[in-house]
Amino acid sequence: MTIARHASRSDTGRKRRRNEDAYVVQPPLFAVADGMGGAQAGEVASRLAVEALADDGGGTGGESRVLELIQEANRRVYEHQGSNSDTSGMGTTMTVALVEDGIVTIGHVGDSRAYLVRDGAVDQLTEDHSLVAELIRSGKLSPEEAESHPQRSVITRALGSDPDVDVDTFTVEAQPGDVFLLCSDGLTSMVGDEAILDAVEGHRDDLDGAASELVQLANRAGGEDNITVVCFEIAEEGAVAEETAVLPAAVPAPATADDEDTLDELDRVPAVDTQVFSAAEVKAVADAQPAPKKRRSRQDQVAKRVLATLLVLVVLALIVLLAVWGLLR
Ligand code: MN
Repeated sequence: MTIARHASRSDTGRKRRRNEDAYVVQPPLFAVADGMGGAQAGEVASRLAVEALADDGGGTGGESRVLELIQEANRRVYEHQGSNSDTSGMGTTMTVALVEDGIVTIGHVGDSRAYLVRDGAVDQLTEDHSLVAELIRSGKLSPEEAESHPQRSVITRALGSDPDVDVDTFTVEAQPGDVFLLCSDGLTSMVGDEAILDAVEGHRDDLDGAASELVQLANRAGGEDNITVVCFEIAEEGAVAEETAVLPAAVPAPATADDEDTLDELDRVPAVDTQVFSAAEVKAVADAQPAPKKRRSRQDQVAKRVLATLLVLVVLALIVLLAVWGLLR
């Protein structure tokens, strides 16, 4: 099993002035990092984190290796923050994939994600370390409510806030044809899993095309945040020549004509800055959260509007009838 091809895109989106995402494409190592913090601290944090990975001269070792890489990235962000008062409060997410002998090891902190597209289905491999994801898991919030929750950008784990970071690691046995996709929340907050699947399936032989389409979809949906996509495909040994392009860090893609679509003002959602919450803060919000409301379906809302319109029409028709009747008399 080998890496047949890979692609990556990183875009500022439409609401942010800077791109605080960064990524690593150094086969067999791939990663995305989504930085946060005031001024330019987010950019510094994600860049320090991906540099820690890129500096690492390669090597193997599965989960313990991925854990080591992320701990080193965390140390660099944490230490930089400790010695630079202007970057205090900075942090970054990090989602890593390391491919070794047909085994893909994933390491993950924060709300960036890893997906696997296999046999025409998409599977979210990572669990978001975010406030809304925790509220959903504890049954206090519905996934629909999470989409518009004012604290949807709060994450519960990040690199840089402590000398050690709690990292999720696991392995996936790869199959020929698998496409693994790493992305920042600027994609997943704008584009649903089904659309992600369609974009990948629609470009089976052109991962570059898939990555550009995903960025375009996120921008068309509002481009509220920086968007980063890194994907790679697994193939049988010798099936496809490996690509040679290697990009060690984020390269913002130039805006294309498609990214210039105008948006309806009503579609705009205010951009929310990412924050990190401690466990105590998460608990406080969870306790204050009311039980999930039954969300009225779109059909119900449309039906209500149609009924209201009909009622107005009937009243108007009655008035006209009465007026005509009055005139005729
Ligand atoms: Mn983000």
